Amino acid sequence: MLRKIALGAAILIGLGAVAGLAIAPGLVEDDLNRVIPHAPYPVSAEAQVLHRGLGIVDLHADTLMWDRDILNRSRRGHVDVPRLREGRVSIQVFSVVTKVPARLNYDRNTGDEDQISLLVKAQLWPTRTWSSLVERALYQSEKLYAAAAAEPDQIRVITSAAALAQGLEAKAGNPDLVLALLAIEGAHALEGKAENLERLYAAGFRMIGISHFFDNEMGGSLHGIDKGGLTDFGRAMVKRMEEMGIIVDLAHASPAVVDDVLAMATRPLVVSHTGVRGVCGSPRNLSDERMQAIAAKGGLIGIGYWKGAICDITPAGVAKALRAAIDLVGLEHVALGSDFDGATEVSFDTSELAALVEAMLAQGFTEEEIDRVMGANAREFLLVNLPAR
Ligand SMILES: [Zn+2]
Repeated sequence: MLRKIALGAAILIGLGAVAGLAIAPGLVEDDLNRVIPHAPYPVSAEAQVLHRGLGIVDLHADTLMWDRDILNRSRRGHVDVPRLREGRVSIQVFSVVTKVPARLNYDRNTGDEDQISLLVKAQLWPTRTWSSLVERALYQSEKLYAAAAAEPDQIRVITSAAALAQGLEAKAGNPDLVLALLAIEGAHALEGKAENLERLYAAGFRMIGISHFFDNEMGGSLHGIDKGGLTDFGRAMVKRMEEMGIIVDLAHASPAVVDDVLAMATRPLVVSHTGVRGVCGSPRNLSDERMQAIAAKGGLIGIGYWKGAICDITPAGVAKALRAAIDLVGLEHVALGSDFDGATEVSFDTSELAALVEAMLAQGFTEEEIDRVMGANAREFLLVNLPAR
C-alpha cells in the first residue's frame, strides 16, 4: 500500500530539487519508507537459534521502485540484499508498482493523476518509462536482473519450480544466496493488451496482482470508483495467466473481482499483502468469508506489517495479526507479505525479523507454526504453483 500522506507533495519537492541534487529521490524515500526509531529489539537465545534455522519467504516488497542499488546496504527503506541476508530471508517477492493516483486513500480513487510519472522522472529512469506502464515494469525487472548478474552468489532470480528447487539446493552450500521472484502490483501494467502479458512473462514476472489503487482494464479495485468485477479482458487474462503458470494475486482487488476470480480459477490464489478483519477492521482488508474462500481453494494469505492492514505495527502486533489469520483460514494458508518499501511505515526492517520470531514465541506460537508461517507454506506453494520449468 502507499500511505495517503502527501506522496505527491514529497515527490514534487524531490522534483524541484532534482535539477541540482541527485540525492532528491533519496529524500523522497526517506519520507515514505520509514522505520519507527527504536532501540534494538531484545531477542532471546531460543528465538535466535530458531530464527537462524528458518528459510523465510516474504510475498511482497516494492523495493525496485526506489533509486537504490539493492546489493548495497542502505540507511533508507526496508529491504536490500545485505538486510535480507541478516534477516534470514530465503525468498523475496519483488513487486513492481507502475501507476499510483494522487490523493491516495482506501475508499475511492480514480486513475487520472499518476504520481509514479513524477517519481520516474525525478529518479531519471529511461524516457521509455515516462509514459508507458509496461516499460516501467520491464525497467524494474531489468534492475533486478542486473543485480543478479553482478553478484550471482548473492541474488538469483527464480522463474520456475525447477529453478526454485535448484536455488534452494544452492543455498545449502551458500546460505547467503537470496532467491528473488518478480511480481506486478496492478494489471494496468498490461496497458489493456494481451501481448503485454507475454512480454512480462518473458521478462520473468510470475505473480500478478489484478488491481492496485484504481479500477483498471482487468477489473475493479477495492479502492476504485466502480469497484466492479472482472471485465471480459480480465477473464481472458486470468485464464491465460493460469495457462502460463502466473500466480494470480488478489491483494487490492474489489470484492466483485475476488468473487469472479474465485468462480473461474482452477489454480490456487494469493493475497500477497493484507491483514484480516479479526484484528483490524480496515477497509484495506477483505471480508472474512472471502479470505476463507481463497484459502479453501488452496490459497495463501500474506500478512503485512503496516498500520492500514494490521492496526498495531509492533512485532507483537504483527504476531497477533498472524494468529488471527491462522484462526481464520488455517495454519497452512498463512504467510508473510510485508509491504516493505511500499511507502509504508513499519516498526522493523527486514534485517530485524528475529524480533518477530521473539514476539511469536512470547505469544505461544509453536516452532512448527513459526516455520510454516514464516517460510514453509509459501515455499511449498511456489514449488507447486510456479511453472515447472
Ligand atoms: Zn499494495
